[in-house]
Amino acid sequence: MDLENLSIKIKSGLEEIGKLFSDFHEKSKMACPPHCGKCCYNPEISCHPYELLPLALDLLERNLAEEYLMKAKNSKDGICVLLNQVHPESGQGSCTDYQNRPSLCRAFAVSGRINKKNEVELSVCKKLKELYSMEDFHYTDDEVPYISLVKRKLEAIDPVMIGPQININEALIIILEKVLLRQSFLKN
Ligand code: SF4
Repeated sequence: MDLENLSIKIKSGLEEIGKLFSDFHEKSKMACPPHCGKCCYNPEISCHPYELLPLALDLLERNLAEEYLMKAKNSKDGICVLLNQVHPESGQGSCTDYQNRPSLCRAFAVSGRINKKNEVELSVCKKLKELYSMEDFHYTDDEVPYISLVKRKLEAIDPVMIGPQININEALIIILEKVLLRQSFLKN
Protein backbone atom coordinates (compact mmCIF):
# COMPACT_ATOMS: atom_id res chain seq x y z
CA MET A 1 0.00 0.00 0.00
CA ASP A 2 1.44 3.42 -0.87
CA LEU A 3 1.84 6.07 1.82
CA GLU A 4 -1.08 8.22 0.60
CA ASN A 5 -3.55 5.34 0.71
CA LEU A 6 -2.22 4.17 4.04
CA SER A 7 -2.60 7.72 5.35
CA ILE A 8 -6.26 7.86 4.20
CA LYS A 9 -7.00 4.60 6.05
CA ILE A 10 -5.21 5.76 9.20
CA LYS A 11 -6.98 9.12 9.14
CA SER A 12 -10.34 7.43 8.80
CA GLY A 13 -9.48 5.12 11.75
CA LEU A 14 -8.44 8.14 13.84
CA GLU A 15 -11.64 9.98 12.97
CA GLU A 16 -13.70 6.97 13.99
CA ILE A 17 -11.97 6.95 17.39
CA GLY A 18 -12.49 10.71 17.69
CA LYS A 19 -16.19 10.34 16.94
CA LEU A 20 -16.61 7.62 19.53
CA PHE A 21 -15.14 9.87 22.20
CA SER A 22 -16.90 13.03 21.06
CA ASP A 23 -20.27 11.21 21.07
CA PHE A 24 -19.49 10.05 24.58
CA HIS A 25 -18.48 13.59 25.66
CA GLU A 26 -21.69 15.01 24.20
CA LYS A 27 -23.90 12.44 25.86
CA SER A 28 -22.15 12.62 29.23
CA LYS A 29 -21.94 16.46 29.12
CA MET A 30 -18.25 16.15 29.74
CA ALA A 31 -16.05 18.90 28.29
CA CYS A 32 -12.56 20.25 28.85
CA PRO A 33 -12.25 23.61 30.65
CA PRO A 34 -11.86 26.49 28.11
CA HIS A 35 -8.35 26.80 26.57
CA CYS A 36 -7.06 23.89 28.63
CA GLY A 37 -4.24 21.94 27.01
CA LYS A 38 -2.90 20.45 30.22
CA CYS A 39 -2.87 16.87 28.96
CA CYS A 40 -0.65 17.88 26.00
CA TYR A 41 2.06 18.96 28.49
CA ASN A 42 2.37 15.38 29.69
CA PRO A 43 5.78 14.14 28.45
CA GLU A 44 4.42 10.60 28.44
CA ILE A 45 2.06 11.12 25.50
CA SER A 46 2.80 8.24 23.17
CA CYS A 47 1.64 6.79 19.87
CA HIS A 48 2.63 4.44 17.07
CA PRO A 49 4.77 6.28 14.49
CA TYR A 50 2.34 5.41 11.68
CA GLU A 51 -0.54 7.08 13.52
CA LEU A 52 1.30 10.28 12.65
CA LEU A 53 1.45 9.57 8.93
CA PRO A 54 -1.49 11.91 8.03
CA LEU A 55 0.12 14.58 10.21
CA ALA A 56 3.57 14.08 8.64
CA LEU A 57 2.15 14.32 5.11
CA ASP A 58 0.27 17.45 6.11
CA LEU A 59 3.48 19.04 7.48
CA LEU A 60 5.28 18.04 4.29
CA GLU A 61 2.61 19.69 2.17
CA ARG A 62 2.88 22.87 4.24
CA ASN A 63 6.71 22.84 3.98
CA LEU A 64 6.97 22.40 7.73
CA ALA A 65 8.31 18.84 7.84
CA GLU A 66 11.99 19.75 8.26
CA GLU A 67 11.22 22.41 10.86
CA TYR A 68 9.23 19.96 13.00
CA LEU A 69 11.83 17.24 12.53
CA MET A 70 14.46 19.58 14.02
CA LYS A 71 12.09 20.61 16.83
CA ALA A 72 11.44 16.96 17.70
CA LYS A 73 15.16 16.11 17.56
CA ASN A 74 16.03 19.06 19.80
CA SER A 75 13.27 18.43 22.32
CA LYS A 76 14.74 17.76 25.75
CA ASP A 77 11.61 17.49 27.87
CA GLY A 78 9.54 15.02 25.82
CA ILE A 79 6.59 17.44 25.57
CA CYS A 80 4.90 17.20 22.19
CA VAL A 81 6.47 19.71 19.79
CA LEU A 82 3.11 20.24 18.10
CA LEU A 83 1.83 21.95 21.22
CA ASN A 84 1.60 25.72 21.06
CA GLN A 85 2.57 26.39 24.69
CA VAL A 86 0.44 29.46 25.43
CA HIS A 87 0.81 29.37 29.21
CA PRO A 88 2.73 26.37 30.57
CA GLU A 89 2.14 27.28 34.24
CA SER A 90 -1.62 27.10 33.95
CA GLY A 91 -1.60 24.37 31.29
CA GLN A 92 -3.04 26.54 28.53
CA GLY A 93 -2.09 25.62 25.01
CA SER A 94 -3.37 24.44 21.66
CA CYS A 95 -2.52 21.77 19.12
CA THR A 96 -1.00 23.10 15.91
CA ASP A 97 -2.33 20.17 13.85
CA TYR A 98 -5.52 19.21 15.67
CA GLN A 99 -7.15 17.58 12.61
CA ASN A 100 -4.33 15.06 12.40
CA ARG A 101 -3.64 14.34 16.07
CA PRO A 102 -3.06 10.67 17.03
CA SER A 103 -5.50 8.40 18.85
CA LEU A 104 -4.50 9.11 22.46
CA CYS A 105 -5.12 12.83 21.89
CA ARG A 106 -8.69 12.01 20.83
CA ALA A 107 -9.38 10.03 24.01
CA PHE A 108 -9.28 12.90 26.47
CA ALA A 109 -11.27 13.50 29.69
CA VAL A 110 -12.10 9.90 30.53
CA SER A 111 -11.08 6.64 28.98
CA GLY A 112 -11.05 2.98 29.85
CA ARG A 113 -7.81 1.08 29.57
CA ILE A 114 -6.18 -2.21 30.39
CA ASN A 115 -3.40 -1.53 32.92
CA LYS A 116 0.00 -3.26 33.22
CA LYS A 117 -1.53 -5.94 35.45
CA ASN A 118 -4.04 -6.68 32.69
CA GLU A 119 -6.85 -5.15 34.76
CA VAL A 120 -9.56 -2.92 33.38
CA GLU A 121 -9.54 0.62 34.81
CA LEU A 122 -10.99 4.05 34.09
CA SER A 123 -8.65 6.97 33.78
CA VAL A 124 -10.24 10.37 34.43
CA CYS A 125 -8.54 13.73 33.77
CA LYS A 126 -7.16 15.19 37.04
CA LYS A 127 -8.14 18.73 36.07
CA LEU A 128 -11.77 17.71 35.55
CA LYS A 129 -11.77 15.99 38.94
CA GLU A 130 -10.36 19.16 40.55
CA LEU A 131 -12.87 21.48 38.91
CA TYR A 132 -16.08 19.48 38.90
CA SER A 133 -17.91 16.86 40.81
CA MET A 134 -18.07 13.68 38.75
CA GLU A 135 -21.81 13.59 39.54
CA ASP A 136 -22.14 16.58 37.18
CA PHE A 137 -21.53 14.21 34.27
CA HIS A 138 -24.02 11.72 32.97
CA TYR A 139 -22.49 8.37 32.23
CA THR A 140 -22.14 4.87 33.53
CA ASP A 141 -18.80 3.05 33.56
CA ASP A 142 -20.09 0.69 30.84
CA GLU A 143 -20.51 3.61 28.43
CA VAL A 144 -16.90 4.81 28.62
CA PRO A 145 -14.98 4.02 25.39
CA TYR A 146 -11.90 1.86 25.90
CA ILE A 147 -8.94 3.28 24.05
CA SER A 148 -7.09 -0.08 24.08
CA LEU A 149 -10.06 -1.73 22.38
CA VAL A 150 -10.92 0.96 19.85
CA LYS A 151 -7.27 1.21 18.83
CA ARG A 152 -7.19 -2.42 17.75
CA LYS A 153 -8.91 -1.59 14.48
CA LEU A 154 -6.30 1.05 13.78
CA GLU A 155 -3.49 -1.33 14.65
CA ALA A 156 -5.01 -3.97 12.35
CA ILE A 157 -4.52 -1.76 9.26
CA ASP A 158 -0.94 -2.98 9.18
CA PRO A 159 0.14 -4.70 12.43
CA VAL A 160 3.79 -5.10 11.39
CA MET A 161 4.34 -1.60 10.11
CA ILE A 162 2.42 0.19 12.87
CA GLY A 163 5.25 -0.63 15.32
CA PRO A 164 5.40 -0.16 19.11
CA GLN A 165 3.97 2.83 20.95
CA ILE A 166 6.68 5.38 21.84
CA ASN A 167 7.01 9.03 22.94
CA ILE A 168 5.16 11.26 20.45
CA ASN A 169 8.28 13.27 19.49
CA GLU A 170 10.28 10.09 18.86
CA ALA A 171 7.38 8.78 16.76
CA LEU A 172 7.32 12.08 14.84
CA ILE A 173 11.06 11.80 14.08
CA ILE A 174 10.60 8.29 12.63
CA ILE A 175 7.67 9.19 10.40
CA LEU A 176 9.02 12.56 9.26
CA GLU A 177 12.35 11.00 8.28
CA LYS A 178 10.42 8.43 6.27
CA VAL A 179 8.29 10.94 4.36
CA LEU A 180 11.24 13.28 3.79
CA LEU A 181 13.38 10.42 2.48
CA ARG A 182 10.62 9.35 0.14
CA GLN A 183 10.25 12.92 -1.07
CA SER A 184 13.97 13.15 -1.85
CA PHE A 185 13.74 9.89 -3.89
CA LEU A 186 10.75 11.21 -5.80
CA LYS A 187 12.59 14.44 -6.65
CA ASN A 188 15.64 12.59 -8.08
S1 SF4 B 1 -0.54 16.08 18.87
FE1 SF4 B 1 -1.70 17.90 19.44
S2 SF4 B 1 -3.30 17.13 20.84
FE2 SF4 B 1 -1.67 15.55 20.74
S3 SF4 B 1 -0.24 16.00 22.44
FE3 SF4 B 1 0.52 17.05 20.60
S4 SF4 B 1 -0.33 19.13 20.77
FE4 SF4 B 1 -1.55 17.81 22.11
